[in-house]
Amino acid sequence: MEQTRNLTWKEALDQSYRSVEDISKVIRLTETEKTKMAEIIKKYPMCVTPYYFSLIYADETDGPIFRMAIPDVNEFSEGGEPDTSGEYQNTVITGMQHKYKQTALILSTDRCAMYCRHCFRKRMVGGDGNEVAKFLPAMAEYIKSHKEINNVLISGGDAFMNENAIIEKYLKYLVSLKNIDFIRFGTRMPVVLPQRITDDHELLSILEKYGKQKKIYIITNSTTRAS
Ligand code: SF4
Repeated sequence: MEQTRNLTWKEALDQSYRSVEDISKVIRLTETEKTKMAEIIKKYPMCVTPYYFSLIYADETDGPIFRMAIPDVNEFSEGGEPDTSGEYQNTVITGMQHKYKQTALILSTDRCAMYCRHCFRKRMVGGDGNEVAKFLPAMAEYIKSHKEINNVLISGGDAFMNENAIIEKYLKYLVSLKNIDFIRFGTRMPVVLPQRITDDHELLSILEKYGKQKKIYIITNSTTRAS
């Protein structure tokens, strides 16, 4: 995290690689590759934080981190389904799914600090926000009236892309529900933008405060280098 050590998480995020111009400063691309990459980014946005980019070894254009973070022309192949696990079908309120009996899943944002090229929600991440949860009181009512639900997974996108005030608002509602035993957050921040966890004392205080009322788990979809 050498080059971003003194930045806040928002400042580090602002310095992310998002365009062909950003990437071509550090990776040699032919004019054809630049054109193709621009087309892919238009459809499936790119965002690679400086920290995550620093984990790509020099000239390693076929390594795992490069492949996870940098657009590939194969993303244009149209095989498979845009909604691979029946998310539309299980949506009960905009942005909230009830697929598994005991779990309510909330798409709290469509933003991520790094857009994984393999994402199974590529149909919506970095998009227009149509699928993002908007009605927290209605979601809380639904959960309350479905006693079989004993946990909530706050996902996205990356749940920790939400402002702390939004995270706290979710927790405030959810800890008040008697049938909820635990709350999970889905995030890749620990590996793509560690400052979000290590340097944001406000976030840690919120988690600590509400963690005294219900169990809170952080689910990391994490791949990093051992170093
Ligand atoms: S962080 Fe999660 S939601 Fe975001 S692009 Fe990666 S896999 Fe998809």
